[in-house]
Amino acid sequence: MGYFDKLKKAMSGFFPVQTREDKDAKAAESVAGPRGLPNIHVLATGGTIAGKQASAGPHYHAGEHGIEALLGAVPTVRGLANISSEQVTNIGSQDMDEKTWLKLVHRVNELLARADVDGIIITHGTDTLEETACFLDLTVPSGKPVVLVGAMRPADAVGADGPANLFDAVVVASSPDSAARGVLVAMNGNVFEARDVTKVSTTAVQAFAAPNFGPLGQVHDGRVFYWRRSDRASARQQPEFDVSGLDKLPAVGIVYGHANAPALPVTALVEAQYRGIVSAGVGNGNLYHEVLAALADAASRGIAVVRSSRVAAGPTMRGIELDDARYGFIAAGTLNPQKARVLLQLALTRTQEPGEIQKMFDYC
Ligand code: ASP
Repeated sequence: MGYFDKLKKAMSGFFPVQTREDKDAKAAESVAGPRGLPNIHVLATGGTIAGKQASAGPHYHAGEHGIEALLGAVPTVRGLANISSEQVTNIGSQDMDEKTWLKLVHRVNELLARADVDGIIITHGTDTLEETACFLDLTVPSGKPVVLVGAMRPADAVGADGPANLFDAVVVASSPDSAARGVLVAMNGNVFEARDVTKVSTTAVQAFAAPNFGPLGQVHDGRVFYWRRSDRASARQQPEFDVSGLDKLPAVGIVYGHANAPALPVTALVEAQYRGIVSAGVGNGNLYHEVLAALADAASRGIAVVRSSRVAAGPTMRGIELDDARYGFIAAGTLNPQKARVLLQLALTRTQEPGEIQKMFDYC
């Protein structure tokens, strides 16, 4: 089966409001670019992949090189796809904010709606890459590949990993097999789903893992091989949340659990009128008794309280050591605290009701 047939097969069913003729016409148009290659658009946001190392020393600045320079380091990608690009911002992802998320999601949705765009790549810093991936996963349709990519070494470092990762991202975004898998992350030869991927090393090039479910696939020699499909991501034919009319998101904070933890961070968020609090609890999302009392009080005032865990793997389950129904808490399942925060922000754009929000966490 050729690229054209595979693309049509992968796309069929993902535009439920369109007729079959519309879908075929769209698929045909989408491969009509020069040389019969897929059209991939790159949105650049900065990060270490665009980082500049001034000297041989370890110090560097993220978000210095423009996207054309990064693409210039991997000329062979032009043999895989027709590549266009634009610079959305150029920052270290420790400075990623919701204004940029909203700008990004509007642009991604605009591009995905175009027949002459087959896939999108977003270059991003690795520090908060998983949060942006999670946000986009919940706010864009999954009919065409959307792939985030970063690097652990600056663009001009010895053994820079950015060019190889960018090449792999083009391979992934160009493959019809990457459609309908939700937002993907290509790093160090692995392909991850946005939901489970997380940064697990501050320095290693093998910086990302999917601790609960493992990678979806791998890239070898310019080809992507998928070993499994996430039922949840592929079920999302339409975006889970529509943020098109929003210019900001509800305020949600995270409180970190530990032995002898004070209630102070919780009371500070309540006083600052946050609409939601995520607890990065201990073990199965457990809470020091003073924190439990403060969160119970917050929930009784109508603040949405989600229990997640500081532990790297495993779900935070409802009602194991703690009676969530009694306190009006929501259990995060396998979403880590930073992703539970993203989902809670989006959930709060629809409802403040804990039962409804719990269903979103159960389904996500
Ligand atoms: N601080 C950098 C960033 O997140 C780290 C990286 O990209 O690897 O932008």
